[in-house]
Amino acid sequence: MTKYVYDFSEGNKDMKDLLGGKGANLAEMTNMGLPVPHGFTISTEGCLTYLAEGGHPPGLLEEVDAHLKALESSMGKTLGDASDPLLVSVRSGAKFSMPGMMDTVLNLGLNDTSVGGLAEQSGGDLRFARDAYRRFIQMFGKIVMDVPAEAFEHALDEAKAAKGPATQDTDLDADELAALIERFLAIYRDETGEGFPSDPKEQLRLSIEAVFKSWNGKRARDYRRQNKISDDLGTAVNVVAMVFGNRGDDSGTGVAFTRDPSTGEKVPYGDYLANAQGEDVVAGIRNTLPLARLEELDPQSYTGLRDVMQTLESHYRDMCDIEFTIEKGRLWILQTRVGKRTAFGEWVMANEMLQEGLIDEDTALLRVDANRLEELFKRRVEADGAKAIAKGLNASPGAATGAVVFSADEAERWAKDDDTKVILVRRETTPDDYHGMIAAQGILTSAGGTNSHAAVVARGEGIPAVCGADAIKIDLDARAFSANGTVVREGDTVTIDGFTGNVYVGELPLADSVLEKARQGDAEAQAQPIWQAFEQLMRTADDRRRLRVRANADTPDQSSNARARGAEGIGLCRTEHMFLGSERVAAVQQMIFAESDEEEQAAFDALLPLQRGDFVGIFRAMDGLPVTVRLLDPPLHEFLPDLTTLSVEVALGQERGEDVSAKEAVLAKVRQLHETNPMLGLRGVRLGIVKPGLYAMQVRAIVEAACEVRKDGGDPKVEIMIPLVATRPELQQMRDELEPVAREIFQREGVELSHLEWGTMVELPRAAVTAGEIAESADFFSFGTNDLTQTAFGFSRDDIGKFVATYEERKLVPTNPFVSIDLPGVGRLMRIASDEGRAANPKLHLGICGEHGGDPASVLFCHELGLDYVSCSPFRIETARLAAGQAAVGEFASATA
Ligand code: PEP
Ligand code: MG
Repeated sequence: MTKYVYDFSEGNKDMKDLLGGKGANLAEMTNMGLPVPHGFTISTEGCLTYLAEGGHPPGLLEEVDAHLKALESSMGKTLGDASDPLLVSVRSGAKFSMPGMMDTVLNLGLNDTSVGGLAEQSGGDLRFARDAYRRFIQMFGKIVMDVPAEAFEHALDEAKAAKGPATQDTDLDADELAALIERFLAIYRDETGEGFPSDPKEQLRLSIEAVFKSWNGKRARDYRRQNKISDDLGTAVNVVAMVFGNRGDDSGTGVAFTRDPSTGEKVPYGDYLANAQGEDVVAGIRNTLPLARLEELDPQSYTGLRDVMQTLESHYRDMCDIEFTIEKGRLWILQTRVGKRTAFGEWVMANEMLQEGLIDEDTALLRVDANRLEELFKRRVEADGAKAIAKGLNASPGAATGAVVFSADEAERWAKDDDTKVILVRRETTPDDYHGMIAAQGILTSAGGTNSHAAVVARGEGIPAVCGADAIKIDLDARAFSANGTVVREGDTVTIDGFTGNVYVGELPLADSVLEKARQGDAEAQAQPIWQAFEQLMRTADDRRRLRVRANADTPDQSSNARARGAEGIGLCRTEHMFLGSERVAAVQQMIFAESDEEEQAAFDALLPLQRGDFVGIFRAMDGLPVTVRLLDPPLHEFLPDLTTLSVEVALGQERGEDVSAKEAVLAKVRQLHETNPMLGLRGVRLGIVKPGLYAMQVRAIVEAACEVRKDGGDPKVEIMIPLVATRPELQQMRDELEPVAREIFQREGVELSHLEWGTMVELPRAAVTAGEIAESADFFSFGTNDLTQTAFGFSRDDIGKFVATYEERKLVPTNPFVSIDLPGVGRLMRIASDEGRAANPKLHLGICGEHGGDPASVLFCHELGLDYVSCSPFRIETARLAAGQAAVGEFASATA
């Protein structure tokens, strides 16, 4: 027969699945000999069976009975006894803490007779006993029987009002409480149609059921969805002997943390409330005192508590939070758990515990959350109650404030000419907006997802961004936008919070990051514990990791920035970004519009030196490290004027009788190039195939640049990457065409490189499943998981923002697949490609350059897949280094477990 009930002495801290967090830790503390009130735990299995079968499973109540008897005999008291009653609390406690989301009943065991016994126990304190009884009726009625809370509160307010204005709960005397109890019992009868259960066993049975059911209450379900906690865990129920913190001034209750959870400092931290029960602290009825004040009020209990804190921290080897009660000078520990802490606090604590010898290096490394590292470098909004006018996706972290502008040109002009800080507000951005985006402090879009152009560029450049804030309606003619009734005009100041996706009107104060200041060399910041922690744990991560970490960088500046952050090369240099800027766009347009080979060649000739110059800068910045340059990928129309805008301009011009022949010619070209599905259109290798000479020009620029750097004594390591390949012949034809171009230059220049490879991106399902063939023509593969996710799901990466939240909410995807690799689908494709690719070509190098390369969960997968490197935006280099170190240590830990 299944065992459902465990005495505290039977469990331990590792039994959270069965006993819930609270039960497991109460058991652990009991076995450590700490002053924990006696009690027992009904397992989560009991809860799940109860919920599945709609009633107590066979044997459960009998087990509860047996454990209650044992509890009674250990306490020397009987539940509900008329002269010396045992009282218990019935507390929920799931595997993961769900603060306040489920139910708890206190003072159980009281009835019309045992209330007298309680008074006797407390030296004849009738007031105390009756107050406990009325609280019990109130709590039991509300939680177990769904009596509306207001009914009791109203009666309590009436009792206080009858006594006089400004009467507090605590002012009601024993007689007034006796009357209130009568009133509460009547309310109970009226609302439930039955009398208040006086049999304590009945009270207990009903309370256990109520706690079981509260697992499926609305609050609990909402909390689980928000915090990604499974609905299948169930809650345990803890039945614990009551201790009272409201027995006078030598009693009280509080919460203590063994370190400051916000700064991580090793100082005791917490709150204390004298003469109160735990619920009073939560309800905030009176102001609590800082924990340190307990030392003056009750030095003995304070010392006892400090000893317990020390014992728990050494035992758990981590910061613990503790709920305690002092009953007439005697300290009781009601709960402990490894405490939650801020991103900042977790770094400081992990390092200090390492320095103290409490934990080892690997443990310290695993104590920090790679997902929260980037936050620590960014400025934050100090919103302090400010009300957001709109909310979008938190597309790129950090906070920014500035004047609203609606076009990239304006952004650039205001920022450069007038030195104004601007926020670029657009419906969406396109590659044409790049110059304005990098001039802006922040980017705000009303459409687009976390993988939209705006989001990707913003993250790449480290610019805070809020994307897809659909409450924002832009009226370009009026040079204004409105959001939920607020109108914001060009030049008005707004503040955006890329951590939360909130948008505010006006300039909110922003707080600088200590880590960022330290990285810039600020000596004061470098003396701070957070910087010491950062340096120490990153050293450990670098020492442990097997994955290399490269950057996605397109300019010499980004490359040196990435290198300073520890990048070990470039995994993706998107050459299309080099085609931006007015001079270059003009040359690209000339190339697209060319009517003859000569015209086209002239355009190539104009572009060649510009590209070459960029590559020289990048190879220098990454000297000695591999640089993967991707040949042009996006559809050509991205370099052309917008079809609709141009059509309107032509139509208006014609109406006004102007000469619009030039524009008409452009329009004809734009129409001709227009695609219904540009993401699946003429891009990537297809462009290389239909525009002979384009890739050759790019290869020439790359190779000439490499030769120049080599001749200057540098060591450029070049990897040339062909995008969007679906078949081996596509790649092979490109290599056949391009390798001779490179060879000829090497011969002409008399230069040899130490490293030159040709490879492809794996970003289409067909490429993944035919990787064995493609690998025969490739030196390397780089997983383009942005497009691979887009094509595997058939989800548009630019539009996913419109429905991904619904998908996540309904659990149709565990998380946004553009953020974390979808393991069963996209991950499977990657595994096929890497297994088959390596089998066909054992020398094949493998990496990833989609946005996932900077996502910790995806980095872990890449580690398991045995890739050689991950490549991510420069601002996520540290995150990826850390995650790669953690992946290696996690693997080691599980191998030795
Ligand atoms: C990808 O598709 O994952 C990739 C890196 O290429 P891009 O984002 O430029 O399409
Ligand atoms: Mg791609």
